[in-house]
Amino acid sequence: MVVAVTRPTRLNISQAAVTHNVQQVRESAQASFVFLAVKANAYGFGLVPMSQAALAGGVDGLAVAVLDEGLALRQAGITAPILVLGITLPQYAKLLADNQVMATVGSLAWLETAAEYLSPDGPRLQVNLAVDTGMGRIGFRERATLETAIAYLKAHDDIFDYQSIMTHFSEADSTEEDYFHQQLHCWHALTDGLPMPPLVHLANSGAAMYHADEMPTDVIRAGTVVYGVEPSLGELRDDDYLEPVMTLETELVFVKRCHKGEGVSYGHTYYTEEGEWIGTVPVGYGDGLPRKMQGFEVIVNGERRPIVGKLAMDQMMISLPGELPIGTTVTIIGRQGDVENRLEDVADYVGLAPWEISTGLQERIYRQITD
Ligand SMILES: *Cc1c(COP(=O)(O)O)cnc(C)c1O
Repeated sequence: MVVAVTRPTRLNISQAAVTHNVQQVRESAQASFVFLAVKANAYGFGLVPMSQAALAGGVDGLAVAVLDEGLALRQAGITAPILVLGITLPQYAKLLADNQVMATVGSLAWLETAAEYLSPDGPRLQVNLAVDTGMGRIGFRERATLETAIAYLKAHDDIFDYQSIMTHFSEADSTEEDYFHQQLHCWHALTDGLPMPPLVHLANSGAAMYHADEMPTDVIRAGTVVYGVEPSLGELRDDDYLEPVMTLETELVFVKRCHKGEGVSYGHTYYTEEGEWIGTVPVGYGDGLPRKMQGFEVIVNGERRPIVGKLAMDQMMISLPGELPIGTTVTIIGRQGDVENRLEDVADYVGLAPWEISTGLQERIYRQITD
């Protein structure tokens, strides 16, 4: 995969914002151990730089979706605890163990197969048991089977290390709390009195912010809040307690003055006014910006200016307030003075969730940590 370092398009991760947001969620939950979810290229922010910023900002562990993401972090020299949130094929038990990457397990059968690939001479496999209390995705659904799996782990503690247990809420950031409480009740019914491992974690961002007094939150798994997005999108709290982490900036690489009626980009969906200045920036839908962003206002020279014409794969055009020099910064997401675009604004404009936008941002965009 090619990362475009020679073009002036940058995704910046604000270290100060990450540190601030980690503190916010840690305080709210009174957590002693915070996993940051860095699945899907760290919600699109960039797996390695985001993980580095998060560790510098105080998180204790990283949670990935698939083993490969964990291995990429180990290859980048990251030694912090890593948890795979999804199911890994049990054939990879040794690869998991050799790299000290914790596996999430939802059945006894998985453990039995994994055992065939492990040996008491090698490192033990760290295990996180998933309990399905109503998310309906993965995990043990009955107390008896969970109990059997725990007993199996204890009986085979020469190859397994029972480190962790979790559940995941389907609705922790809503004004409608019934289903959340039903899941919490189910958690107690399934796990109370069973032998618990060192790490017990239920809360995602929403639960950590809004339900910390109702359950154990010594260990939490946060994503959303750390990336600077309010879990309820402002519905439960609108006091701006988080700082936006991502800025997406580019520069004018071409500028021209047009006559009335000149068509811009594919299909000429926009015609210029007499004397209108049009700027071109090197970023497009091939970088993951939705084509529906046509008309969205980016920030140039401290002013909001619209994207005009269709976004092309690698370039797009902006109506400028007048002649501006090549190299002028164009902020797609971020702030210039008092004018700010957040990831949520882009998402709103195109009718998608913030994470649908950010996870779509391609590897081609160079990512870096800034102050
Ligand atoms: C993604 C994920 C999280 C983080 O969720 P946020 O709502 O972004 O805080 C936590 N736990 C699991 C199992 C996840 O898949």
